[in-house]
Amino acid sequence: MNTDYDVIIVGGGPTGLAAAVYTGRALLKTLVIEKQFFGGQIVNSFAIDNYPGFADGITGYDFTQAFVKHAKRFGAEVREGNGAEKITKEADGHFTVALADGSAVTAKAVILAMGRHPRRLEVPGYDKLFGKGVSVCATCDGAFFKDVPIAVVGGGNSAVEEGSFMIRYASEIKSIHRRDHFTAQKILIEEYLHSPKVRPVWNSTVEAIHGEKEVEGIRIRSLQTDKTEEFPVKAVFIFIGWIPNSALVKDMVDTDADGRLIVNELMETKVPGLFAGGDLCVRPIYQLANVVADGVQAAISAEKYLEGKKH
Ligand SMILES: Cc1cc2nc3c(=O)[nH]c(=O)nc-3n(C[C@H](O)[C@H](O)[C@H](O)COP(=O)(O)OP(=O)(O)OC[C@H]3O[C@@H](n4cnc5c(N)ncnc54)[C@H](O)[C@@H]3O)c2cc1C
Repeated sequence: MNTDYDVIIVGGGPTGLAAAVYTGRALLKTLVIEKQFFGGQIVNSFAIDNYPGFADGITGYDFTQAFVKHAKRFGAEVREGNGAEKITKEADGHFTVALADGSAVTAKAVILAMGRHPRRLEVPGYDKLFGKGVSVCATCDGAFFKDVPIAVVGGGNSAVEEGSFMIRYASEIKSIHRRDHFTAQKILIEEYLHSPKVRPVWNSTVEAIHGEKEVEGIRIRSLQTDKTEEFPVKAVFIFIGWIPNSALVKDMVDTDADGRLIVNELMETKVPGLFAGGDLCVRPIYQLANVVADGVQAAISAEKYLEGKKH
């Protein structure tokens, strides 16, 4: 079977770049396709403080640069600004990846690492202050907001879990939800509401996020009385859902009800030769350390697949 590459990796975030280090080092001819710019969600993070080995922290940009350099060092070809539009498994078992610019590339195996994007809060201030107090990851950014009042938006498991995580840092948490109860697991809710720092604000939505260089406050509106109220907060953690970037392959592979790919522990999808990992998939947590591990496993599984043997 003649193909352009041994492995094509779709998505140049941490999962895809980790996979590329391993496939490149295994001397597999590798192409990484990234539709925007390398780094994925982490590239704009102002500080990564919890990635093991970086005791002084590192910016998302520097982390990404080092990652791309590492992938290139082992021979991976990397292309930015040209996304995958369609993936087809051909009769002889190879894959064709059609790209946004109208060209196509082929490979014997494909690793899917398209990640996910947060559901946006469509309010003034969201874009301007994203990364400057507006966050979608308490585990990542929580430690920057010690002893200050914050807001948490949402009412599902993520909101309550991440809100609970913030109890150790924040002086007060306004927990804003559009309903009159949280929909997270009962035990999580009980623990969360037990904290004197947590002030639930029921039946309310955020209407605006204020601030110039950093978050200074929010305006909320009651869905019952229609009255508005201002809260001075230093951060707004928003957990109103994530959207996996899985549309490209939803008809090829198994997904859960939210569209996240279902893979086994070897990062195999149900299609032989098609692997996936990272935030695109159903995972217990979504952090750099574990998505990097997914990329590594996907690469090694692809290598074994190409050798024609299974674990
Ligand atoms: C604000 C923020 C801060 C964070 N901080 C931390 C932290 O401090 N520590 C930590 O451990 N974790 C942190 N995280 C979590 C971490 O960034 C994610 O777990 C990680 O980026 C997931 O990597 P991924 O490669 O699976 O997906 P993503 O990062 O989502 O990358 C996927 C990539 O695929 C590309 N893509 C999508 N579709 C296509 C297509 N069709 N063709 C080609 N390319 C495509 C996207 O453009 C993107 O670049 C943070 C997340 C956010 C949002």
